[in-house]
Amino acid sequence: MKRVIAIDGPSGAGKSTIAKMLAQRLNFRFLDTGALYRAVALYLKSSGLNEDSPDKEILSHLKMIKIFFENEDICIAYDSCNGGILDYSLCISVTEEIRSPEIGHYASIFSARQPVRDFLFSIQREVAFYDDVVAEGRDMTTVVFPDAWKKFYLDASETERAKRRYLQLKAKNLNITFQEALDDIRKRDERDLNRPIAPLRIAEDAIYIDTTNKGPEEVIEFIIDALKPGS
Ligand code: C5P
Repeated sequence: MKRVIAIDGPSGAGKSTIAKMLAQRLNFRFLDTGALYRAVALYLKSSGLNEDSPDKEILSHLKMIKIFFENEDICIAYDSCNGGILDYSLCISVTEEIRSPEIGHYASIFSARQPVRDFLFSIQREVAFYDDVVAEGRDMTTVVFPDAWKKFYLDASETERAKRRYLQLKAKNLNITFQEALDDIRKRDERDLNRPIAPLRIAEDAIYIDTTNKGPEEVIEFIIDALKPGS
């Protein structure tokens, strides 16, 4: 395993922005695990599955795909019709498609399911075999990289997180009100915190950062200071 900087926190705490910028600064690889959960959700949903689908059905669908990053893209490779050999000519990039609020909703639902978490566990760990990584998500510090080099938990007030989500979606010309963004954040918090498998928790050895009144640069400087030996 290479060096892992693991970052967890609720939706809208600034994890993606910070993790991406930090990875660039340190020349580490950025691992956006939310993108993996979103890609799985997109696939399961478009295969006709929903929150009531049994684990067995989810598992048999997951056996037919591979999900991987290719440079900045996230791709799904489908098994050839006969099963067996993976046919990469059927590999499609879902980078844009996974960013819709609808897929965010399904990612939040399907991420509570054991077969989905098991499926993505090894994909996430594998990235850190080859590269130094800044990994962000909900269970980086607790489940996927309990042995991480450094751990952080990013947080912000509910209102601030909803505001960020609202502005982000507005910038993409999506039709959303502030109240809808707030409701979405609340529902996701509720699911992420209360699911029995890999719930969002502050790891004992994580450094807690409240980003409510801080810009990304300030948070990055704080993290970089905390990475220095002896701090
Ligand atoms: O971070 P992002 O909003 O893209 O993640 C989508 C959903 O995937 C989250 O709402 C969360 O429920 C789930 N997720 C997770 N574990 C992770 C990353 C994301 O459960 N490591």
